[in-house]
Amino acid sequence: MIQQLPPHVADLIAAGEVVERPASVVKELVENAIDAGSSAVVVEIRRGGMGLIRVTDNGCGIPPAELPTAFLRHATSKLREPEDLEKIGTLGFRGEALAAISAVSRVDILSRRRGDPAGASLHLEGGVPGSVEDAGAPEGTAITVQDLFYNTPARLKFMRKDSAETAAVNGLMQHLALSHPDISFQFRKDGADALHTPGDGRLESAIYAALGRDFAKSLTPVQGTGGDVSVSGFVTAPLQCRGSRSMQVFFVNGRFIKSQLLTAALEEGYRNQIMKGKFPGCVLAVTLPVTLVDVNVHPAKTQVKFAGEREVFDAVYHTVLDSLAAKGTPQPTAPQPEQVKNLRGDFFQSMDAKAYRAQAAGGAKSSTVHSPKPPAWNSERPSATARLSDSAPVVSYGAKTRNDLPQEQKPVPEKPRTFPPAIPQARREEVPGQRTIAPVKEAPWRIAGEVLRTYIVCESEDGCVWLIDKHAAHERINFDRLKATQEPPARQVLLTPAAVELDETDKAVLLDNLPLLERFGFACEDFGGRTVLVREVPADIDAADACATLEELASCLTTGRSMEERREAMLHTMACKAAIKGGWTSDPAELRVLVEKVQSGEVQYCPHGRPVAVKLTKYELEKMFKRA
Ligand code: ADP
Ligand code: MG
Repeated sequence: MIQQLPPHVADLIAAGEVVERPASVVKELVENAIDAGSSAVVVEIRRGGMGLIRVTDNGCGIPPAELPTAFLRHATSKLREPEDLEKIGTLGFRGEALAAISAVSRVDILSRRRGDPAGASLHLEGGVPGSVEDAGAPEGTAITVQDLFYNTPARLKFMRKDSAETAAVNGLMQHLALSHPDISFQFRKDGADALHTPGDGRLESAIYAALGRDFAKSLTPVQGTGGDVSVSGFVTAPLQCRGSRSMQVFFVNGRFIKSQLLTAALEEGYRNQIMKGKFPGCVLAVTLPVTLVDVNVHPAKTQVKFAGEREVFDAVYHTVLDSLAAKGTPQPTAPQPEQVKNLRGDFFQSMDAKAYRAQAAGGAKSSTVHSPKPPAWNSERPSATARLSDSAPVVSYGAKTRNDLPQEQKPVPEKPRTFPPAIPQARREEVPGQRTIAPVKEAPWRIAGEVLRTYIVCESEDGCVWLIDKHAAHERINFDRLKATQEPPARQVLLTPAAVELDETDKAVLLDNLPLLERFGFACEDFGGRTVLVREVPADIDAADACATLEELASCLTTGRSMEERREAMLHTMACKAAIKGGWTSDPAELRVLVEKVQSGEVQYCPHGRPVAVKLTKYELEKMFKRA
């Protein structure tokens, strides 16, 4: 039997579209506060918003008589005629939010119109309003939402942990604060201040307050116009690019949106300037006439449709490209000296030692290199002996937990921002002061040298010339090893734990997956704010890389669909991070091990499917020189 639903059931269904979780409530309430012309907005939540959400503003207020009307469906002061929909300048326009929110919670509103002598209050329960009462109040509006989803148990069941909800609200507050630098936003969670922007109208102040000093420092200003579209804001310098897209923030006419078009335009501007797997960060405001953008395409209003997509793309692309070019950004192919140094300098410790030994032992005669005399082409790198005799403040062990450590070896959390050198004890024993290099004699190939600090040039007995990408080859070897091994990875305890600043969502996803990270060799804990404290990292990861690695792992955890997919993505990250990098100075012996693996056919493609080696036959060379 087909029946029209009673209004309260229809309201609950409609509410589901707008009110998905606490963050959606906060979003709607804050957008109303912005639309009301406020200059200061305070947001408080308890228990991820499930306990309480309160948004207080100093905007225009609502007259007492209109308080109940504001909570009716399709009741809005922002829209009158159908034509108005084509030129929406406010954040809200559907007239649904207050109705939807009040349908699934208990709401109190206290409001006083600007210039009125007093205000009024109203209590609603499951959408049913009580009576309007006179009340003393400051100018503006305060809305309190309690017991969210109390009357929709099915929705309640889907709520994630409070920490995840808090993180979602926090991320949202950052975006809202960034979208309106002229408004001071204060966000308090469970009684503690989490965000407070000055509202001085400067985007850089808002970025500093919302996204942290480290991120703010990595930015360059950009500004440009193309046709009707103007673009302004900040982007990260190519060398400061990040492991995920989580720091790409776009606004269109003051509205935070997600847009593949804008992401693509931004990244196109960085083409050939950043390493694969790195993404630019940005806070970019795109402004265009309201008639050229349709905001009515998504119930949560997080997507928009542009009338002229090409124009918008070009404006963003050229603005980014031009500002990067003007800055004369250094190319990744010409890295800074401090970046080319192999900070870890411990290739052997990260290689599969067994494989290396087997190879070294397999030779008829071993040649020995006495350190600290470094090979001529390796003068930038500290000698192995020098490094190994360092009293490295690092303790390493296999699968033990931190509690198994003797007391005196426990890390002392003093200065959390310095990174000790990453030389794992256990692996150190595998590397004697004198290092053995595999015999040259037996190999059916010869290393001619290394070019661009990235490619090994090698000649094989059958008259071919090989170019081998050392990073890609090492990454593949690591990946295969990590995938095959069932053993927990060797770890290094950082004597001084590293404080890693992350964005709130990344932090929450990492904290939700601590046991998994533990299996990958990371011991982390919450350090308050945006910070995660890292006490242990896998032995073959550069401790200085811990932050970037965790950021990438967080992105793997949020993007992978199945557990298997996520695990695989994490293995990729770990393999990549543990690999020597293009641009690093390498020891000839390191290169030798890589060439051996490539020549034996064991390693052909990197885990992303790119070739590891390029081979030129003698005939091909002769053809190039017109000899054949
Ligand atoms: P919309 O924002 O789409 O108009 P809402 O349901 O969010 O719909 O709000 C309904 C109406 O209530 C708004 O149009 C506005 O007139 C009024 N209102 C809501 N919140 C505020 C506020 N914080 N200050 C002033 N007026 C408000
Ligand atoms: Mg609204």
